[in-house]
Amino acid sequence: MTSSQNPASSPTKAAADPALFDLLVLGSGIAGLAAARLAEDDGKRVLLIDKGRRLGGRVSTRRQDGFAFNHGAQFVTAKGTEFASLLAKAKAAGNIKDWQISDDKIVQIGTPSMRDLPQFMATGLMIRQQTEITQIAHHGGHIGFFDKDGLVATGRQAIITAPAAQTAKLLADIYPELAATAGLARYDPCWTIMLGLEGDHGLGTLPLRDEAAGIALGVPEFTRSNQQSSLDAPALTIQATGAWSQQHLQDDPQMVIKSLCQIWQNLSGKPLGKIITSAAHRWLYAKVTTAAPSAAPRLSHDGKLAIAGDWLGGPRVEQAFDSGRQAYHHLR
Ligand SMILES: Cc1cc2nc3c(=O)[nH]c(=O)nc-3n(C[C@H](O)[C@H](O)[C@H](O)COP(=O)(O)OP(=O)(O)OC[C@H]3O[C@@H](n4cnc5c(N)ncnc54)[C@H](O)[C@@H]3O)c2cc1C
Repeated sequence: MTSSQNPASSPTKAAADPALFDLLVLGSGIAGLAAARLAEDDGKRVLLIDKGRRLGGRVSTRRQDGFAFNHGAQFVTAKGTEFASLLAKAKAAGNIKDWQISDDKIVQIGTPSMRDLPQFMATGLMIRQQTEITQIAHHGGHIGFFDKDGLVATGRQAIITAPAAQTAKLLADIYPELAATAGLARYDPCWTIMLGLEGDHGLGTLPLRDEAAGIALGVPEFTRSNQQSSLDAPALTIQATGAWSQQHLQDDPQMVIKSLCQIWQNLSGKPLGKIITSAAHRWLYAKVTTAAPSAAPRLSHDGKLAIAGDWLGGPRVEQAFDSGRQAYHHLR
C-alpha cells in the first residue's frame, strides 16, 4: 500500500497503523520537507504523505534508458540565511555543488542529481509516497487525511503544501478561508523535453537560453558533472518559456518534442544527431507568476491547519523552503 525511497523512514509502521501524529504534512516537496524537518527538530511526531512515486516534488530527476534528466528545478540560489545554511550543510555532506550556468554566473545544484537536495532534507523523516489524499476532514477532534480507500492518518495539526489549485480543492469544505487564499495564486506552465542522444557533439559546454525563441533553459546534463556518472551520458533537457508553454499547452507531446528540437537546432546552428530516447513532461503548475498576498490567511481559524508552498512566496525553491518553515511557525 505504501512506499518511500527514504531508507531512514518507517513507512510500513505508518501504513499499518493510521495512528495519531502531532503533525501531518501533505507533500514531500521542498515546502513539506522544510516544515517537517523543523517539527521533527522540535520533538514532534511527523508523517509526510505524497502522491508521487518519489519525494522532492518539482525538484526532480528522471532516469530513462540509461540517461538522467533533471526535468524540474534546474538549480537553487539562496538569498536568506536559513536556506543558505541548509545548502551549506548539504554541500558539506556532498549533496550540493557549484555549477557554471553562464559565462558570468555560478549557481548551486544537487549532486549527483537535483533530487539529492530533497533526499538530503528527508533524512530520518517518516514519509509515505504514492498516497493521493482526496479528502481532508475533521476526525475525532483532529485532522484526518483520507485517500480513495478511507482514513490514512490523523494529526493534531496539519500542513498542506500541494500546488494552489489542488490545495483550494482539498480545503474548500473544511477551511474555505484557506481555499480562498489558494485561489489567489497563479502559475505559468512549462513544457519540458528530455532527449537521450547518441553523441554530444554540438551541445556546447554551457546551458542555452533564449526567451524570445521560447527556450527558458536548455541543459546538456553532462555540464553538471565532471565525474563519470549517468549524468555524463549525452542527455539534453530543454524547458520552454511560460509564454511558449501556454501557447502550446494542448499540443501533442510528440509535436512539442519536434518543435523544441527545431528551435534548439536553429539557435545552436548544429544538428542534434540521432535521438535514442525522448520524453515530454507538461508541468501545469511550474513557476509562480502571482503569489498569494501576504495579508491573506495562512492559518485556519481553529489554529489546526496551515498552508505552505512556493505559491505563498514566489517562483523559487528557496521561497517554497521559507513557506514551509513559516507554516510550522504559524502552528506553534
Ligand atoms: C520546470 C521547472 C523548472 C524550475 N526551475 C527552477 C529553478 O531553476 N530554480 C528554482 O529555485 N526553482 C525552480 N522551479 C520552481 C521550484 O521547483 C518550486 O518552486 C519548488 O520546488 C516548489 O516546492 P513546493 O514544495 O512548494 O511544491 P511541490 O514541489 O510541487 O510539492 C508539492 C507536493 O505535493 C504533492 N501533492 C499534491 N497534491 C497531493 C495530494 N492530493 N495528495 C498527496 N500529495 C499531493 C505533490 O506530489 C508534490 O510532491 C522550477 C519548477 C519547474 C516545474
